[in-house]
Amino acid sequence: MKRIAILGSTGSIGTQALDVIKANPENFELEVITAHSNADLLITQALEFNPNTVVIVKEDLYKKVQEALKHKDIKVYAGVNALCSVVEMGTVDMVLTAMVGYAGLQPTIRAIKAGKQIALANKETLVVAGQLITDLAREYGVNIYPVDSEHSAIFQCLVGEFHNPIEKIILTASGGPFRGRTAAELAQVTKAQALKHPNWDMGAKITIDSASLMNKGLEVIEAKWLFGLKNEQIDVVVHPQSIIHSLVQFEDGSIKAQLGLPDMKLPIQYALGYPQRLKSAFPRFSFLDYPQLTFEQPDLKTFRNLALAFEAMERGGNLPCILNAANEVAVSSFLRDEVGFLEMSDIIESCMTKVAYIANPSYEDYVSTDREARERASELIIK
Ligand code: NAD
Ligand code: MG
Repeated sequence: MKRIAILGSTGSIGTQALDVIKANPENFELEVITAHSNADLLITQALEFNPNTVVIVKEDLYKKVQEALKHKDIKVYAGVNALCSVVEMGTVDMVLTAMVGYAGLQPTIRAIKAGKQIALANKETLVVAGQLITDLAREYGVNIYPVDSEHSAIFQCLVGEFHNPIEKIILTASGGPFRGRTAAELAQVTKAQALKHPNWDMGAKITIDSASLMNKGLEVIEAKWLFGLKNEQIDVVVHPQSIIHSLVQFEDGSIKAQLGLPDMKLPIQYALGYPQRLKSAFPRFSFLDYPQLTFEQPDLKTFRNLALAFEAMERGGNLPCILNAANEVAVSSFLRDEVGFLEMSDIIESCMTKVAYIANPSYEDYVSTDREARERASELIIK
């Protein structure tokens, strides 16, 4: 029985993780759920799953949640400090980081320092501070199990091969809703079009990132840290059907791939259940439904975010942190119709040149870099 804390239980990953836990009551026990501001769903989840503790990050919603759960034996807390403390609870074995953005960094650090196993969906944490997080995980003997489908695929290919060096990995990308578009066409795309992903149903931020290929850029950096790779060992190939979730090439030239229908429940369940493969009722893949699996080169000239992410990874230091912060600001502005689709790349590029470079950042450096990059990005948007 694994006792689980879900940070971000009301989101796309969080709700699917709850489905997995519900379907496997003999394997998982839900200890903690947290949400930023969706108090109604958090309350519904708490009433259904009866966790030990719930946290609502937005403090003015505390009364509402507390009132709704007062007849239950459930502890209710509010605020960021509470979020960082509940991951340390003695009754938690594993923390699923399913919140979105930089906000995941601090609670993930606290969970690792408390010796909790991590099921990592929050890729931004590894993008911002990959060195720091992987060093801490090693120091505290904590495993980080990937939830992201591509990284889960690579992990699944590596099981049984941990003694064999990786020659390279190939991350697959769907290409998003705008695959094949020109820059002139991208300049005109709307928020509604960007929010329609062809294969996956996800939260708003990652859906925009998928449309701009920033998601793949973040995943390249995530893979570097998860699997200890050199930059040149990471390839990206566009595979519009999203059936091959990613591949590993070994030193004998052999390539292993993991395949399946695009359904995040599978990688979530694999991360929570590892080393077991739990029986599931997920729909099964049939090759005959997909007679054509196709592959193409990503267009880094048109989708500049992917090129910027490669650059940030290569130059290292606090640049991925700058990239991430600028992107978070750019995406939320795009979602408020304040900037166009292509302007997001301009904002990120400008922040990458203007915010001071730090070669070996400490935690405090990440905090100040994130703040500075957000300020820069916001100034550019006001202009
Ligand atoms: P979402 O927007 O659907 O949900 C986000 C969750 O985080 C919500 O529960 C929200 O309450 C919480 N949250 C938001 N801001 C917060 C803050 N400042 N502090 C604490 N909690 C906060 O997002 P999602 O699509 O579920 O994605 C979550 C993470 O998983 C992201 O890092 C994303 O990149 C990653 N991921 C998602 C998918 C997917 O299919 N959705 C796939 C791979 C990776
Ligand atoms: Mg992914």
